[in-house]
Amino acid sequence: MKELKDLVRPNVWNLKPYSSARKEYAGNDASIFLDANENPYNAPNNRYPDPLQKDLKKRIATIKSVRPEQIYLGNGSDESIDMLFRVFCRPGVDNVVAIAPTYGMYEVCAEVNDIEYRKVLLDASFQFKASDLLDACDDFTKLIFLCSPNNPTGNDLNAEEIIRLVSQFQGIVVLDEAYIDFSDTPSFIRYLGEFPNLVILQTFSKAWGCAAIRLGMAFASESIVELMNKIKYPYNINLLTQREALDMVGRYYRVQEWVESLLGERKRLMNEFKKLPCCKQVYPSDANFFLVRVGEARKLYAYLVEKGIVVRNRTNIVLCRHCLRITVGTRPENDRLLEVLKEYRE
Ligand SMILES: *Cc1c(COP(=O)(O)O)cnc(C)c1O
Repeated sequence: MKELKDLVRPNVWNLKPYSSARKEYAGNDASIFLDANENPYNAPNNRYPDPLQKDLKKRIATIKSVRPEQIYLGNGSDESIDMLFRVFCRPGVDNVVAIAPTYGMYEVCAEVNDIEYRKVLLDASFQFKASDLLDACDDFTKLIFLCSPNNPTGNDLNAEEIIRLVSQFQGIVVLDEAYIDFSDTPSFIRYLGEFPNLVILQTFSKAWGCAAIRLGMAFASESIVELMNKIKYPYNINLLTQREALDMVGRYYRVQEWVESLLGERKRLMNEFKKLPCCKQVYPSDANFFLVRVGEARKLYAYLVEKGIVVRNRTNIVLCRHCLRITVGTRPENDRLLEVLKEYRE
C-alpha cells in the first residue's frame, strides 16, 4: 500500500475539522448543559446525540471482534461509500475500479463526485481475477470496489482472489459485505489487522432487519476511520437510530434466528424454482436473494406486479439478461409467489 498521505485528497489531509459543542466537552461529570444552544425542555430529543456513537460502537466492537476505533458508522452504507470517495478521490483527476455487475451506488457516487468509474466484467460464474482488476488500474486509481456476496448475482466472490487483490493493490480495497450474515464464508473483518488498505462495509439494513433506521458500518484501520470522522457531518447518526441499534444489538439472537429461517426458506424456494417451467436457470446464492433467468423477464415481472408481488427486474444489467432478482420472504409470502408462478403461462 502507498503511504496514506499519498492516497488521501490533500485538502482533506490538511483539513481542520469542525469542532462541535458535544465534541469539545465529552466528559460525563457536568449536569447543566448551556454549551450547544439547545432547548432545555423536551428531553431526550432536545439534546444533540453523541457525535462518535461511543456506546453503540463499543457493543458492535464486541460482536465483530474489532476495536471501537476501527468502526465508522454512517447513515446507511451509502454514506460510507460517498465518504470514501470524498476522502480519497480528487474530482476530475482520480478514478476507481469495480467489478460488474454489482451494487449500483458505487457508480452513482462516482458520478456525483466526478470520478471516473472503470468496470471489469465478471466471468460466466460471476467470479473475478485480481489480475484483471489490477490491469484496469493506473497511478490515479484510489479505490477498488468488491461486493461479496455480490448484488445482484448473489454469490460469494472467491476469497483467494480477494486476498490476492488486497495484498497487491497499492490503493484501498472496499469490500461490501452487506449480505455476509447469509453466507457460509466468514467475514474478512478478521484480516483488518493484516491489511491496512482494506475497508469492509456491513449494514443494519439486511440481516439486522433495520433498513428504516439507516445505519451502516464501515470497518477499517484507525487512520482511515479517523479521516472519515474528520469530514463527516458532526451528528450524522441521530439519537433515535443510536437507541434502536443498541436495542437490536441487545437482541442479536433474533438476527441469528431470522438468518437461520431465511436460509431454510432460500433453499426451499430455490428448489421449487428449479421445477417451474417459466424458470430457465437458478443461480447459486450466498445471500437472502437469488437470481433466476426466465424466458421473458419483462413479461413475468409485469405478471407478478399484477398479482401484487414485486421482484427486481435485472434484465438491463450486464450478464443478467432476462434475470429477475428474488428476495426471500416469509414462508407464506414465498408460498404465494410459488402458487402464482405455477399458474403462469408464457
Ligand atoms: C442493500 C445493500 C447495501 C445497504 O445499503 P444501506 O445504505 O446500508 O441500506 C449496501 N451494499 C449492498 C451491496 C447492498 O445490496
